[in-house]
Amino acid sequence: MPIVPIVPIVPIVSIVSIVSIVRRVAHLARTSVVSGALLLGVRASVAAQGTATPRTERWRFLAPGTAVSDDPRRVPVAPGPRGPAGTIVLRGGRIFDGTGAAIREGTLVIERNAIARIVAPGVTDWPAEARVIDVSGKTVLPGLIDLHTHITYPDPNTPGPIANSMADAALRGADHLRYYIESGITSIRDVDSQNEVPFRLQAWVRDNRLVGPRIFAVGQLITGTGGHGADGGDYNSVADGMIRVASGPDDWRNAVREQFARGADVIKIASHFSRAEVQAAIDEAHELGLKVTCDCETFYITRAVEAGIDMIEHPLPRSDETIRLMAQRGTEADPTLVPYILIFNSAGGYYGTPSRRFTFSKDADFELVRKMKQAGIKLGIGTDLVVDWYRMLPGPYITELKQFVRLGYSVPEVLGIATRVNAQLLDMADKLGTLEPGKLADVTVVDGKPDVSLDDLARVFLVIRDGYVAVDHGQLAIPRHVPVPMPADR
Ligand SMILES: [Zn+2]
Repeated sequence: MPIVPIVPIVPIVSIVSIVSIVRRVAHLARTSVVSGALLLGVRASVAAQGTATPRTERWRFLAPGTAVSDDPRRVPVAPGPRGPAGTIVLRGGRIFDGTGAAIREGTLVIERNAIARIVAPGVTDWPAEARVIDVSGKTVLPGLIDLHTHITYPDPNTPGPIANSMADAALRGADHLRYYIESGITSIRDVDSQNEVPFRLQAWVRDNRLVGPRIFAVGQLITGTGGHGADGGDYNSVADGMIRVASGPDDWRNAVREQFARGADVIKIASHFSRAEVQAAIDEAHELGLKVTCDCETFYITRAVEAGIDMIEHPLPRSDETIRLMAQRGTEADPTLVPYILIFNSAGGYYGTPSRRFTFSKDADFELVRKMKQAGIKLGIGTDLVVDWYRMLPGPYITELKQFVRLGYSVPEVLGIATRVNAQLLDMADKLGTLEPGKLADVTVVDGKPDVSLDDLARVFLVIRDGYVAVDHGQLAIPRHVPVPMPADR
């Protein structure tokens, strides 16, 4: 996350915090000799043990067809029908199925929470009781995905005690969810929120007790003492439960287990860390079957890539060597250009954070992402909307997509990144990201032709998540409750 204080938007680095930063740097300089010595031991022990357990190792213990939870944790669940009863037919739209196929006229048939089939415009052989929605002239897409959210992040004017309140965090999260789903975003990867809040919201959405996108959550960000997210300023995010500060390899490993115990779908770490610490965290996450992503800067990225990290957040790889190493190792990236565009446009710069000690500008960011694309690194779409920026939706999401067009992707390719590729990066490509029979029924319908003009993504008509209509005629859809019978007199 870009660390943005509640008030003002750019941290005022006080004399006290400058002193503490100087002390911290001095401390790091002292400990680097020690960590260098430790490093030799760690490398030797890794070599002695052979390669670490790959993240995908546990998948081979699940036979194909085993019913599992609709998340990267892949917990076996009881087989049987899921989602709402009945059939929904989206009749006569322009189908962008996300597979790379050309747009075509067609009708999408949904049964319960899955896509059943896509039929030619003239076919009408669906069950008589099906709900048929005319989408002629509109474009039918796989639900959009945002790889980088912070749904409990407080607005700038939220007083500290309220910002730290878990009750308020839950309500803030519910409020944020509305903006995402109304923007046609049916899945979010929440990469750092307060304590158990994202997991409770995740369950309420899954059970259709709250209208919103699917939430794939990391829980807390894991960082070192004074690392990104715990680096002071006016906004003390350690106290509010967003950050898990860890120290030493065993504690980093345990911090990963804590997030997994809460329900994490992915693990997020931040610099700074030693080689032994980052290796322990990644090994533990991979053995649990989870990907690890990193908000880390400069040489910490190299360290994380060498340790087997799956993904890097933000335009933070600051050297050609790091980008080359990421490409060699197949490390993915979620560059999130838009939050930095918002910061630079509103505040003129990015100041006062010791975890961003490099020259930072919009042009430099774009150039780095361009190099990542040229190197063949798989890039995804995330917006990283903190403070009250989510109220700008869908603007920031569309702006991020337009950055990808600037990078040289065609508009249909960018829509494919926002859906199919983002699903791959989520570890959910078998269930999400394209409109194909058997996939989960996450569908966005917009007026116009977003494959020609990305601005048409703002014209959301209908959103279906997991077979439930979440947005209908552009409005949040909350069906009237069905009263439960009272007990009879006796
Ligand atoms: Zn973020």
